[in-house]
Amino acid sequence: MDHPMPSAVPGKPTEAVRELLAAVLEALTLPHDTPDYDARILRRAGLARVVAGEALAESPSNLGWNTDYLRSKLAAEQAEAEQREKNKCGRCRTPFDPSDMAFDGRARHRETPWCRRCVASCHESTDAFHACPICDPSRRSGDDR
Ligand SMILES: [Zn+2]
Ligand SMILES: [Zn+2]
Repeated sequence: MDHPMPSAVPGKPTEAVRELLAAVLEALTLPHDTPDYDARILRRAGLARVVAGEALAESPSNLGWNTDYLRSKLAAEQAEAEQREKNKCGRCRTPFDPSDMAFDGRARHRETPWCRRCVASCHESTDAFHACPICDPSRRSGDDR
């Protein structure tokens, strides 16, 4: 209320501003079929928010640095997400628990992407119509890019 409308900012958008905007857009964009989409978008929005705030508070000459910083944070977030995906059962999506070695436990079944519980329930199924990603890879719920 006591903030008058700012007059148009003098100057023209520089390449650095465009680069930062592109990085922010990148942060807020993930394919909709991304596992953990909501959680990851929230995380990435948080990163973009911090960097945008710093970019506004700092000298405009630091914009390139802010952009690089955001990009490196996004790459780290991506790597973490991939790591998490690898440590999850491909069927029930439950994170593996290496200490749960019961035949139907949550540990990984040998070198497969499945947990022991899913493999046990697949192998024990007496349903003639049983099909799951374990016995029929074409039914994998994730996409096979
Ligand atoms: Zn499982
Ligand atoms: Zn099965």
